[in-house]
Amino acid sequence: PEKSLSYRQTLQMRRNYVGRSCKLHFEVSPLKIVRASRQYLYDESGNEYLDCITNTSHVGHCHPHVVSAGQEQMARLTTSAGFLNEQMSEYSKRLISTLPESLCVCFFLNSGSEANDLAIRLARAYTKHEDIICLDSAYHGNLGNLIEISPSRFKKLGNTHQKKDWVHVAPTPNTYRGKFHSETANPGLMYAKELRSQIVQARQSGREIAAFICEPVMTAGGMVVYPEKYLQFAYRFVRENGGVCIADEVQSAFGRCGEHFWGFQTQDVVPDIVTVGKPIGNGYPFAAVITTKEVADSMGEFSSTFGGNPVACAMGMAVLEVIDNEKLMSSAKSVGKCLIDSFRGIMPQHPMMGEVRGMGMMLGIELVMDKQSRKPAKEAAEILSYRMKENKIIIANDGPEKNVMIMTPPMCFTLDNARRVVQVFDQALRDIENDAASVGLTSNSESSGVTATMGVPLHVITESNLTRASDEEDEEDDPGAKRARYEEMD
Ligand code: PMP
Repeated sequence: PEKSLSYRQTLQMRRNYVGRSCKLHFEVSPLKIVRASRQYLYDESGNEYLDCITNTSHVGHCHPHVVSAGQEQMARLTTSAGFLNEQMSEYSKRLISTLPESLCVCFFLNSGSEANDLAIRLARAYTKHEDIICLDSAYHGNLGNLIEISPSRFKKLGNTHQKKDWVHVAPTPNTYRGKFHSETANPGLMYAKELRSQIVQARQSGREIAAFICEPVMTAGGMVVYPEKYLQFAYRFVRENGGVCIADEVQSAFGRCGEHFWGFQTQDVVPDIVTVGKPIGNGYPFAAVITTKEVADSMGEFSSTFGGNPVACAMGMAVLEVIDNEKLMSSAKSVGKCLIDSFRGIMPQHPMMGEVRGMGMMLGIELVMDKQSRKPAKEAAEILSYRMKENKIIIANDGPEKNVMIMTPPMCFTLDNARRVVQVFDQALRDIENDAASVGLTSNSESSGVTATMGVPLHVITESNLTRASDEEDEEDDPGAKRARYEEMD
């Protein structure tokens, strides 16, 4: 018989045995998803949710072509590091065929973080410099070095964390919230000059830049689309100062931007190093770094036990085939346009919709307390994500202030899906705005007032009805001492 834990047991055991810092979507009432297909997720009671956020399942959850490619290869051969494998040879050739000519050497790894870590190692080996410049709301991964170049994470570590001397932080070119707005003349150049002044300062204090790393469309910054020519100017300034340019394409690759296969192409630049992860294996752990011959040859030995194993490469190849066969890029372009146009269409009726931005299947809707002050409406965004969930739509609030509703759905997302999301969003946000208006909530109000007055639907599971010691079944195999030790950490 199929072994299955109840929702409660699953949650209870997760809380008991898994680190608290491993965040869940919908922290107060997390979903237990037991199966998924295309752009739909199913919970243990069979409820169907429209998935607007899982960009890892790029061509659709459990796509049969990708699944069978993985199953067949797994039955024949899994890892064989150190031996020739034709899947790797074929896949690297195919991947490179999607890139500009100069980017012609691949390295294979298992996660976006590993790929970014290797990119930095390559940049340092090639330039013989140490320093890295990143953007101020970046996230590049969970490894030690990457946290240091992920201000979105290290800022949260408080006073105990000191920015490392080899790290330089330039402002995110956000024309809605940053120093230069879209009305500024040539904001792309203005932001690139900010980056250049960071580089100049670093050099004046005797440091040298190895690389500039950024996402081509900045998901971590709240889906920031850069002003025209930003990357062209930025890359030029970095190269003039002896550094190389790394495009972190972990979120934006494989046609997600609609118009182009690679995110960097939307800014008409060619990086020196590109990193990919998440969607490359449609959910199977897989990642790659692609770089120039000169950069690749500058590094000493590299090895990864699982990187580029035949299963990963077979699945990666199947992903590329599905993107072509199902014309997912052009679908991302037209469905993405419908989403952006429809959200922009409802903006005038919504005092809290500050900006709608994005391209293809990457969308951000910034919520504000009012359009004048642009004060981030974090709690409204949080409530909205729960209200959407009640309506069986999964959307996340993210960005530095957690006030941007982010959409990065599987690429098979349809026009019907898009219309449904906009319709539910429209109604749910209107309710939130009406609640806010009825209590005279202004941008000056204490933010805690929002949750208190808006009837947040956070009643499903609360901390108080889920104390750790209450799950008897789980208690049987739980070493009491271990639990007590963990509880002390609360
Ligand atoms: N870069 C970016 C832009 C990301 O979004 C992520 C993951 N959220 C990573 C790197 C790290 O990838 P992984 O979690 O696969 O290590």
